[in-house]
Amino acid sequence: MRIGIDIGGTTVTVGMLDDNSVINKETIKTYPKDGADKVIKRINLTIQSVIDQSGACLSDISHIGIGCAGMLDRSRGTIIYSNNFGWKNVLLKDKIQKVFPLPVYLENDANCAALGEYVAGTGKDYNSMVMVTFGTGIGGGIIFDDKLFRGNNGFSSIIGHLLLVTDGELCTCGRKGCWEAYGSVNALVKDAGELADQNPDSMLKKLSDRDGELNGKNIFEAIRQNDKAACELFSKFIHYMAEGVTDIVHVFNPQSIIIGGGISEQGEIILEPLRELVLKYTYCGATTMPVIKTASLGNEAGIVGAANLDKYHD
Ligand SMILES: [Zn+2]
Repeated sequence: MRIGIDIGGTTVTVGMLDDNSVINKETIKTYPKDGADKVIKRINLTIQSVIDQSGACLSDISHIGIGCAGMLDRSRGTIIYSNNFGWKNVLLKDKIQKVFPLPVYLENDANCAALGEYVAGTGKDYNSMVMVTFGTGIGGGIIFDDKLFRGNNGFSSIIGHLLLVTDGELCTCGRKGCWEAYGSVNALVKDAGELADQNPDSMLKKLSDRDGELNGKNIFEAIRQNDKAACELFSKFIHYMAEGVTDIVHVFNPQSIIIGGGISEQGEIILEPLRELVLKYTYCGATTMPVIKTASLGNEAGIVGAANLDKYHD
């Protein structure tokens, strides 16, 4: 058995896995502002609780894999800096091994989610895969020839910051025109808000008033009901998604592109026009088209990927 942990800015999930099946898991709030020591203490208590609940003892567990956002030193098992948590130089691996003397592997959270989909989700039938996660930003993970692609020192795959528009919208990274400033769910919500204000009779505006805000869910409710403003917005959004995905296809020529994040719940309403546009935009047409599908593990992808880090660690 092995343990997979997904440390996010809002929640931490600790899972016990037998092969790739999650036997049991617990999710706690992160509260990163409490400081790294307190948060890691809570994570250690949760690991113990998950071990107890699964009826296992320490000798049954081969290792602990951890996915975490931020700049990591994987060989030392430290978080060098995490913007999400406001942490610097946190000796995560040491602090966990002090309580649980097991091999501990650390990897960034986006790579763990991609690895999870690759070993046990939609990507399991392909030996090369790029996962693209559309959420607050756009994240990704790349697996090639059964290897996690990390670049020179683990900072590859920052695909949300591919350039879409020269001198375009200001991105959260400080550069202008990044893909995620156009194709993320945050960008979609921002554009929807402007459209709703310009079109007071639209369903977008009604749903915004009803729910007190626009979000991924109610925007797609308006799209499904063929609201004119929402459909215009959707066409533009799919175009932005497809432009970035096409660049990924051109660089990596992968067998599969797996779409993750909350937006993947929308399924074919996104996939069908996305496939159509990527085919249209791709150099030489169909010759380089990958399979484009949605992720299937949801928020368990991170713990499944983390639990597999022993086989994908260099
Ligand atoms: Zn950027």
